[in-house]
Amino acid sequence: MLSRRSLLAAPLSPAAAGRRPLPLVMLDPGHGGRDPGAIGAAGTEEKRVALAVALTLRQNLETGGRCRVALTREADVFVPLQARLEAAQAQSAALLVSLHADAAPPGPGPAVRGGSLYTLSETPSDAIAAGLAQSENAADLRGGLALPSVSPEVQQILLSLLRRETRIGSERAARLAVAELGRAVPLLAQPHRRAAFVVLKAPDVPALLVEMGFLSDPADEAALRRPGHRAAIAAALARAIRRYLDRGLG
Ligand SMILES: [Zn+2]
Repeated sequence: MLSRRSLLAAPLSPAAAGRRPLPLVMLDPGHGGRDPGAIGAAGTEEKRVALAVALTLRQNLETGGRCRVALTREADVFVPLQARLEAAQAQSAALLVSLHADAAPPGPGPAVRGGSLYTLSETPSDAIAAGLAQSENAADLRGGLALPSVSPEVQQILLSLLRRETRIGSERAARLAVAELGRAVPLLAQPHRRAAFVVLKAPDVPALLVEMGFLSDPADEAALRRPGHRAAIAAALARAIRRYLDRGLG
C-alpha cells in the first residue's frame, strides 16, 4: 500500500520510477584481517564485534526494503581506511556508518564505558576523542573528489558547499542515532562527539562512526559478546538510518 509520503514523492512516470535506485547505505565494520582493533581482557576482538553487528544491521535494513546496503568488508580481511571511504564515494552512498568498539587508554578516574557516536571535526571534542581518532587514522585522505573543470576558486566554493551539506546530513544522522541507540543501550554522558576520523572525511558522503562500547571495560566487553546486545544495537541503528533516509527523500 502506498503511504501519503510515497504518493507525494512519486515521480510523474513509471519509467522514471524504475530508473531511480534506492539509496545506498555503506556499512563499515572497523579493522579486520591483520588489524584486530581493540582487544578486551576476555579476548574479544573489535574486528569481530564490528563485523557481527554490521551483518545483522544489513539484514535489518534489507528486510525493510527501504535502501540498498553495501559493506566495506564482509569477511575477516584488512581494508585500508582510504579504500573504505572511496568505496562509499564510488557508490554515491547516502550514508556511511562505521562500526567500532574501542578501548580507552588506562588512566585515573572512573572507567570509561558506554556507546558514543562521532561526526567529523578537525578539532577533537576532548582528549578521548583525539586519542581514538589518532589510533584509527593509519592513513590520511586527499578528498578524492572529481570536481568539474572550473577555476580553482569556483572549485573551492563548490567543495565548501558540498562539505556543508554533508556536515548537515552527518549531524542529523548522529542525532537520530543517539536518540535510537540511547533507548537501547547505555551511552556515554555526552554521546555525540566529534573527531577527525579518516572514514568521516569524504566531502560528499554524510558519515557517522559508532563506538558501540569500550572493550577496555569488562561490563561493556561482556555486553558486546552477547548476540542479544549486538542485535539491539543493530536494530536501533536500523531505525535511525530509516528515519534518516525518510527525511532525506521527503
Ligand atoms: Zn576501532
